[in-house]
Amino acid sequence: MSDANRMRMTKQRQIILEELKKVTSHPTADEVYQMVRRRMPKISLGTVYRNLEILAGLGHIQKLSVGGTQKRFDGDISLHSHIRCRDCGRVADLNLKLESHIETEAARFTDFVVLGHHLEFIGICPECQ
Ligand SMILES: [Zn+2]
Ligand SMILES: [Zn+2]
Repeated sequence: MSDANRMRMTKQRQIILEELKKVTSHPTADEVYQMVRRRMPKISLGTVYRNLEILAGLGHIQKLSVGGTQKRFDGDISLHSHIRCRDCGRVADLNLKLESHIETEAARFTDFVVLGHHLEFIGICPECQ
């Protein structure tokens, strides 16, 4: 890969990261693509997908393993839970304080080394109520 290519990739990834950090809507890759395209009209959906996966792999963003049909991404990597709307699929943050010790609690009941957990709440959002 040429230096120019590598530079462009880094720049694209940086913009994707910046755009994702601006929102708390937990966008899908398609939604991130729409956001990023305003700044980089030539970027492709495939590039956005690839960079989101890389950013998640590097721990710069979270890929949400929630029950929706499409993967969603979160620029907030702090420990927090999510609540998903049963009807429209929207995902919102839910800052529960039990989060930090739930893993310590879990470790008491297993021989596994507990690395993390996924906790998702299901509800009906204000718009769908
Ligand atoms: Zn809803
Ligand atoms: Zn979140």
